[in-house]
Amino acid sequence: MKIASRTIFALVLVLLVAQGSEGQVGTRPNIVFIMSDDHAAQAISAYGSRLIQTPNIDRLATEGMLFENCFVTNSICTPSRAVILTGKYSHLNGVPVFNHIDNNQPLVQKYLQAAGYHTGMVGKWHLGGQNPSTPELGKPVGFDYWNILPGQGAYFDPLMIEMGTRKTIKGYTTDIITDLAIKFIEKRPTNKPFFLMYHHKAPHRNWQPDEKHRRQYENYVPPIPETFDDDYQGKSDASRLATMHIDKDLNESDVKMKPPAGLSGAELKRWNFTRYMQDYLACVQSVDDNIGRFLEFLDRQGLSENTIVIYTSDQGFFLGEHNFYDKRFMYEESLRTPLLVRWPRKIKAKSINRDLALNLDFAPTFLQAAGLPTPPEMQGRSLLPLMLGQRQADWRKSIYYRYYHPGHHNVAAHYGVRTTSHKLIYFHKLDQWELYDLVKDPREKRNEYANPAYAATVKRLKVELQRLKKEYRDEDQFADKVPVDDVDGMGRPANP
Ligand code: CA
Repeated sequence: MKIASRTIFALVLVLLVAQGSEGQVGTRPNIVFIMSDDHAAQAISAYGSRLIQTPNIDRLATEGMLFENCFVTNSICTPSRAVILTGKYSHLNGVPVFNHIDNNQPLVQKYLQAAGYHTGMVGKWHLGGQNPSTPELGKPVGFDYWNILPGQGAYFDPLMIEMGTRKTIKGYTTDIITDLAIKFIEKRPTNKPFFLMYHHKAPHRNWQPDEKHRRQYENYVPPIPETFDDDYQGKSDASRLATMHIDKDLNESDVKMKPPAGLSGAELKRWNFTRYMQDYLACVQSVDDNIGRFLEFLDRQGLSENTIVIYTSDQGFFLGEHNFYDKRFMYEESLRTPLLVRWPRKIKAKSINRDLALNLDFAPTFLQAAGLPTPPEMQGRSLLPLMLGQRQADWRKSIYYRYYHPGHHNVAAHYGVRTTSHKLIYFHKLDQWELYDLVKDPREKRNEYANPAYAATVKRLKVELQRLKKEYRDEDQFADKVPVDDVDGMGRPANP
């Protein structure tokens, strides 16, 4: 099986390179893919944040395009990264949970490298390669240079693995990863275009800011989101069963101090939320500062004009909505991921796209930007025409989502479909459904599944859900048995 897929990859590669690279070196754009970890669109001012100003990330919107409706196919760190590299859903790329990636399969960076791109990966990888006894399992491949954090990595003085060699670097990780991104570009061969994956660890839990940004937010009092006191009335049991509630599941390492004596109930919940937001936003502010530093570096090098700079996160995140922190659920705050793209040579400044985009589309997008077609195994579709302002009449009208991981935070496995107006979610282990009318109820407060007025909508969406499941070849490959969690070392054998 492995040999067969490698042979096909090699054949496709020969064809792609023959089609794509001839005579184009020198005019093809550089591609910088900046991804942070757990950075919700609600914490980016270009998306209308009420919480924070992010002027540097916003630059990408004012000088390029903002995607309002970009979603992930499985809202969790490791699986999302595998989807991005393979252009395939979790059930086909083999990474439904926290398990290492099979790096023998076709990956976007291998195609780009073979087509003449100088390729690099710095920062959080989280797909394997960190276990000293099995260093080959899931390690980065297809990169001319890589320097990664093992697993989740540390916020301060991180241990890093540079091309297989371990070393500790002093400093704050967000600054260090940016330094590595800059160094990669400084040291590149200038006769080739480059592809750089520049991945921040921040603002992942447990949200440890550096001193400068911690102080900036130490007295900050965040506004409360509209669904902060969601009581889950009328919903499935999944929200109640999940252990990611602001009022009772944040631990001492999250809030980092003891609550004032005598606080309880709504006051304690508010205090937890304030502590959470102070640290989360401080971490985001540091990411934003560093992106500013990186964009200024590109300006100084004269690289801005023909470099595609993308900013995204591996998924969205709950910032107190529905009384949650974390992600995983198919609800909007977790499902949606920010996507901003700047390419001054081709993308119109201040443009906005509202089509349904997916992280599944990123690999085909990079390849098309490099002049390469989408390989047959990839399931996404290039976003490049949308970026260039070309309306696509046959663009997708619905997206398919599936979450597997039962372990951390006890979120029940589910899958579902989202259109531009509705969302149907099936928690199949609980055999419970939810339906939301995103036009009338964009914050997903009312489950309309049992409402007779929506019977026709439910029927139609169930058909669409099965159609998507079939189209994407989801044959419940991991429904009853997920791989061992060997990236975070939790050792969970299977889905209970
Ligand atoms: Ca993440």
